[in-house]
Amino acid sequence: MSSVVVIGAGQAGSSLVAKLRNSGFEGQVTLIGEESAPPYQRPPLSKKYLLGEMDLERLYLRPESFYSDNDIDLRLNETVTAIDPAAKTVTSGDQTVSYDHLVLTTGSTPRRLPASIGGTLDGVHVVRDLRDVDAMAPACVSGARVLIIGGGYIGLEAAAVASSKGMKVTLVEMADRILQRVAAPETSDYFRDLHTTHGVDIREGIGLETLIGDGHVTGARLSDGSEVEIDFAIVGVGITPATALAEMAGLDIDNGIKTNELGQTSDPSIWAAGDCASFPHNGGRGRLESVPNAIDMAELVAENIMGAGKTYTPKPWFWSDQYDIKLQIAGLNTGYDRIITRPGDADGSVSFWYYAGDRLLAVDAMNEARAFMVGKRLIEMGKSPDPALVADTGTDLKALMKA
Ligand SMILES: Cc1cc2nc3c(=O)[nH]c(=O)nc-3n(C[C@H](O)[C@H](O)[C@H](O)COP(=O)(O)OP(=O)(O)OC[C@H]3O[C@@H](n4cnc5c(N)ncnc54)[C@H](O)[C@@H]3O)c2cc1C
Repeated sequence: MSSVVVIGAGQAGSSLVAKLRNSGFEGQVTLIGEESAPPYQRPPLSKKYLLGEMDLERLYLRPESFYSDNDIDLRLNETVTAIDPAAKTVTSGDQTVSYDHLVLTTGSTPRRLPASIGGTLDGVHVVRDLRDVDAMAPACVSGARVLIIGGGYIGLEAAAVASSKGMKVTLVEMADRILQRVAAPETSDYFRDLHTTHGVDIREGIGLETLIGDGHVTGARLSDGSEVEIDFAIVGVGITPATALAEMAGLDIDNGIKTNELGQTSDPSIWAAGDCASFPHNGGRGRLESVPNAIDMAELVAENIMGAGKTYTPKPWFWSDQYDIKLQIAGLNTGYDRIITRPGDADGSVSFWYYAGDRLLAVDAMNEARAFMVGKRLIEMGKSPDPALVADTGTDLKALMKA
């Protein structure tokens, strides 16, 4: 019976080992992770957990006993430092573990600011893992002054939490508008208004020149020459896929660890899934940074290790919680040329539908779960309703499926 070793005990790693066992895999399964906590969900780290409304145990994806009950060797606090593809072994500390199949679910690494602009001062945080959030928790008190660098989803979620906790929040975004990389101006406008209403000072088209402080950060100088006094800073300027191990092992890299449609890397005994993996998509390559992708791709790889031969077809969707607004996104908006706005019934509820010509690509839905669900279904079925029908609130959403 073959053995499977998984490096990275996060969302994808945990989903993969669970799927192996649920599918009747009887070989040896080892899951190695460098963090001390058993696999947990990251989304609440910038939402309810940061807000203090969610306990640690509720973050865990599965009870710790799940792993021993299912004969999964979960090794925490262990960092894999090398892979030997010829010998089919991995090294962690002074241990060597052999594999028949190896899976890389190493996730991604947050970008940090360079030391030359104060990135290593005390009080400068990123939001990637539990250690990061636990480290900033004592500073997150009413009246504290925080600078958030980056107006993407992580930065905006952190801003919502900070403002809800009574902090004085300044957010700088170097691009012309928040969410520029991922959303249409309509969605940016919606969230700018939302945050401004909650007292967040959003400064767009303005970068950080340098953080100021002697040991601990105390201020920041911005690209327009202005200065802000702060107690701490949160850096949310994106992530890079964790490919270092794969590179050292000589695997092909292409915006992440390069896999084929089965999830297999350039070494047929080594697979990859989740944030760290890029896969064939629409004639090019794709890589997604989301929970649904981590689960779906990991489960597919588990099945393929057992010989299923299934092709990965991502069904992209994502969500973000800010204040009392739930944003749900279906599809990928790359290449859109127009936006159709569909107001919802409740105050503040609306959906934006992204089209390329007559083809529906994606939907951003704010407190509009039905629009999200219908949009997601339509995109998965490859159906594109007439934009005029979408814009007409007299059209029942479900009727769009039949149109
Ligand atoms: C604050 C935050 C909020 C988010 N919000 C959302 C959201 O609302 N919706 C959504 O869909 N997605 C969200 N995401 C993204 C989502 O959490 C990730 O896409 C998902 O966790 C990816 O799963 P993964 O298993 O690929 O990586 P991870 O969950 O990051 O797991 C990778 C693990 O591998 C470990 N590792 C790496 N290298 C080694 C090594 N050499 N040896 C041992 N262990 C190693 C890492 O320590 C880590 O524990 C959010 C992410 C963050 C950080």
